[in-house]
Amino acid sequence: MKHIVMYSGGIGSWAAAKRVIQAHGKENVILLFTDTLIEDEGLYRFLDETSAEMGVELVRIADGRTPWEVYRDERFLGNSRLAPCSHELKQKPARKWIEEHFAPDECVLYLGIDWTESHRIAAPTKNWLPYTVKFPMAEEPYVTKDEMLTELERLGIRRPRLYEMGFVHNNCGGFCCRAGQGHFANLLKQLPDRFAQCEANEEAIRQYLGKDVTILKKTRKGVTGPYSLRELREDIERKNPVDMQDIGGCGCFVNYDESGEASE
Ligand code: SF4
Repeated sequence: MKHIVMYSGGIGSWAAAKRVIQAHGKENVILLFTDTLIEDEGLYRFLDETSAEMGVELVRIADGRTPWEVYRDERFLGNSRLAPCSHELKQKPARKWIEEHFAPDECVLYLGIDWTESHRIAAPTKNWLPYTVKFPMAEEPYVTKDEMLTELERLGIRRPRLYEMGFVHNNCGGFCCRAGQGHFANLLKQLPDRFAQCEANEEAIRQYLGKDVTILKKTRKGVTGPYSLRELREDIERKNPVDMQDIGGCGCFVNYDESGEASE
């Protein structure tokens, strides 16, 4: 029996891998990383150092496109409700790799969803059928993300720098189409060049589609409508209020679109 951990680069997936190894030994554990090609450099260091410390095989797979290329191909800019990038770049390649290598009765899959996210368990459980999915961090003993990061550093491995910069996840280099105003405000502050690239990419998709579509939304005078990254940046530069509480809900491999389709 193989134990395959969906190894996103997030601290939850690391903590899940540690528990899987403790329960089953490292020999039959595989860390499966699906690369979106816009990951932060700190993520690759984290993957290398943690897989070496655990002594476990790290398998890297990639669709070959970035999220921005998926939006262009799908003629749809990802947003908080629908994220075709996660379906195309995470779920589909992972499913394909697993089906090519293991039958449902030859492996168990693991996701890093923790006990604060238990409401997210039902969807991937159903989506991965007939494969079995388990969620070690949703089980006791319950630990917080801070405690996981502290444990990582106790082993002499620095936390991924996106966490140090105040991001809630370590995916897509600090970008996420599911993220909110506060998340992108932090991206502008911490990694302005990367924000500028996202702003330019969003504008390019808008031009390509010929539509007033944006990742973010803003409510003006009771009406909610598109809010581009350029407008967000200009509001911040002019010191206009932005919704810093609107962080958004990124969750690689665990979010499901409103359509019911799995997004990652
Ligand atoms: S982290 Fe966000 S942008 Fe990246 S693949 Fe997942 S949903 Fe898409």
